Amino acid sequence: MVNKDRLVTEFVQLVAMDSPSFEEMEVGTYVKEQLRALGFEIREDEAGRKNHGSCGNIYGFLKGTKELEPILFCVHMDTVEPARGKTAVIAEDGTITSKGNTVLGADDFAGITAILEALRVVQENNLAHRPIEVLFTTAEEVYSKGIAHFDYSWLKSKEGYTLDLTGPVGMAAYKAPSILAMEIQIKGKAAHAGFAPEEGVHAIAVAAKAISELKLGHIDEETTQNIGIIHGGLMSNIVPESCSIKGEVRSYDHEKAVRETEKTKAVFERFAKEYKAGLEFTVTIGCKAYETPIDDPVVKRFEEACGQLDLPCRMIETFGGSDNNVLATYGFRGIVLATAMNQCHSVKEYTSVNELCKIAEVTVRLMTSDR
Ligand SMILES: [Zn+2]
Repeated sequence: MVNKDRLVTEFVQLVAMDSPSFEEMEVGTYVKEQLRALGFEIREDEAGRKNHGSCGNIYGFLKGTKELEPILFCVHMDTVEPARGKTAVIAEDGTITSKGNTVLGADDFAGITAILEALRVVQENNLAHRPIEVLFTTAEEVYSKGIAHFDYSWLKSKEGYTLDLTGPVGMAAYKAPSILAMEIQIKGKAAHAGFAPEEGVHAIAVAAKAISELKLGHIDEETTQNIGIIHGGLMSNIVPESCSIKGEVRSYDHEKAVRETEKTKAVFERFAKEYKAGLEFTVTIGCKAYETPIDDPVVKRFEEACGQLDLPCRMIETFGGSDNNVLATYGFRGIVLATAMNQCHSVKEYTSVNELCKIAEVTVRLMTSDR
């Protein structure tokens, strides 16, 4: 049912738009135009202003022709860097890549085209559909900073689909972890490294001692910890006065993730005290774990849609976050659909004409389902 040429043309057009996090205005303007033409009531929230970005989250509502509960389709408009000057290259076999110097942006433009194309198919074929809500978010790639400012009082749906997962179309994630970001500042005291080293307080030494005591990598079967960035010191002849460290903990168990950051904090406190250094330790919740029951109607509807298209359906656990983590904190039941994107967050990112069509077809089935 989908119009392959129209879908691919739109995808190529979107790829050509620069849309790094906080700079989504061009895509946002385009999305608003399309939704307006499709008969949606549209609103843009304050996320752009609050995040000092160029665009807010774009929300749309379309009345249904079926007496069913509304469902939400959520997708993000930003792409990771290198994100500027992207060009889609379509190979003879239908594979679509960038020119090799940027990402492609199938993450998440494949989701945007799937939703817009599905809506056009529903409309031009007069297909009966339920009330549909759409949410095009900003700044997802920086720990869902856009959707964090969404006005949830607008939302009518209690369930829905986030189109934002790597893998073959037919796969979907029903479970995702909490991700807690840690930022640590150690304040020592500068001194000449040759003349009076004992007068200094060595901030890097404190960091090194603490990090060497941490358990990194897998802490258990559902929890990991990483220290990703360490930065400190001014010159090789100065006892370093400060050191900053960034890391994260992720776990399917939110409380466990919180406890792990507390343990890490205790280790840093112990060495800061021993060396008489100052310490600032902040933890930010990047996203919160959720698990949608595998027998939930939101899953069943998706399985049914895949069945109608002869697509193998596979429900998985993911260890990455998405906007669905944030929706879930409001009691929303959702799953994250594989959306025709591969090798995301790299210049090797690719999709294919075939997969783009498939996810659009799945989306049509979800919008028109009787379940
Ligand atoms: Zn994404």
